[in-house]
Amino acid sequence: MMLGFLLARAGVDVTVLEKHRDFLRDFRGDTIHPSTLEVMYELGLLDDFLRLRHQEVRRLTGQVGDERLTVADFSHLPTHCRFIALMPQWDFLNFLSSRAAHYAGFHLRMQAEVTDLVQDGERIVGARGHSPDGVFEIRSPLVVGADGRHSVVRERAGLAVEDLGAPMDVFWMRLSHHPDDAAETLGRFDAGVVFVMLNRGDYWQCALAIPKGSADEIRGRGIAAFRDMVARLVPFGRDRLQELRSWDDVKLLTVTVDRLSQWYRQGLLCIGDAAHAMSPIGGVGINLAVQDAVAAANILAAPLREGAVTLELLRAVQQRRAFPTRATQRVQVFVQNRILGRVLGSTQRPSLPWPLKLVRACPWLQRIPARLVGVGVRPEHVRVPEVK
Ligand SMILES: Cc1cc2nc3c(=O)[nH]c(=O)nc-3n(C[C@H](O)[C@H](O)[C@H](O)COP(=O)(O)OP(=O)(O)OC[C@H]3O[C@@H](n4cnc5c(N)ncnc54)[C@H](O)[C@@H]3O)c2cc1C
Repeated sequence: MMLGFLLARAGVDVTVLEKHRDFLRDFRGDTIHPSTLEVMYELGLLDDFLRLRHQEVRRLTGQVGDERLTVADFSHLPTHCRFIALMPQWDFLNFLSSRAAHYAGFHLRMQAEVTDLVQDGERIVGARGHSPDGVFEIRSPLVVGADGRHSVVRERAGLAVEDLGAPMDVFWMRLSHHPDDAAETLGRFDAGVVFVMLNRGDYWQCALAIPKGSADEIRGRGIAAFRDMVARLVPFGRDRLQELRSWDDVKLLTVTVDRLSQWYRQGLLCIGDAAHAMSPIGGVGINLAVQDAVAAANILAAPLREGAVTLELLRAVQQRRAFPTRATQRVQVFVQNRILGRVLGSTQRPSLPWPLKLVRACPWLQRIPARLVGVGVRPEHVRVPEVK
């Protein structure tokens, strides 16, 4: 959607195909990071965007055993917004698509599911799929696979995927937020568990990390045992756990960390999760997808207006974005394997890991995780002018 917006704004004719009828998916990441907010600022959309209902997270707090500390403090970032905005992804997408609709070249087709690519020799020249109106085929000088971590586009293009592995899966659930609850977003590490609570105004969005592959065993013990497990971790009474009536109220995210060795072929490019599924650590997946879109628009808008995108230009997009992707995944895999994996595999109360001991000793170090999470590696800036 972001790439569709940016290209249409730059005078390129663009069609966004979305297989669902709306963007109302259940929770799949609601974090809009300072660098994405900076992009909104550069596009002149920030003030209108922040009028949408959201919560602002200015610092991240962690609790390891009984010890609580601020892990990241966003107040020193060199950005206009020094906070993460929590907003449902569908509000973000609806906002972008409504703004993109102001450009004559923007077309959004809902309920249009891509099932295959159209090839002419080695070159991808379009996509085909089906919608309620029947099958469709769209020809285009460039097809962009931004279809997420189960991308059909990357699979049909035969692009090779490197799987980096993950030692955990995550259960997601909502619990109501009461006016007298603490406001802060909290990550809690205790014997065998990692639990995160995001304050979403009327409710807490909660994530419970579990050892990979253990979901069926946990479900097998029943929802009452699960409620007991979560009751130990929340900073309020167990009555509220009754809101988890059945497993329908608890969703499983199978964590995947992967990336394509090559993000492109002639006539085709993958970005976002389709090019690199991120671990939920740091909640940076949306931000990286948006950054890819900005980089792709910067490099490709002018050539697309002229109708010619060379392999070198597609390679340039990967070269620009591969380093931030690899660097971020490296940090995520380190935290996954060296910190979360160990906590999940242990029956002992964890002690503060050394990186957090350092942060406790030197609070200004809170700026480093804040920078990594809030802005990331090699932030992108909108360089393509609007074409009216
Ligand atoms: C439970 C969960 C929690 C997460 N939490 C966070 C978080 O807190 N913060 C964060 O930054 N990230 C989070 N993520 C990751 C984040 O959702 C992704 O990194 C981000 O959405 C990637 O954006 P994308 O545009 O590349 O792909 P997606 O957001 O997956 O978008 C792909 C789109 O393509 C559509 N589509 C798929 N296949 C087709 C097809 N064949 N034809 C047409 N349309 C198709 C899909 O319906 C979807 O709308 C979370 C993910 C999950 C699953």
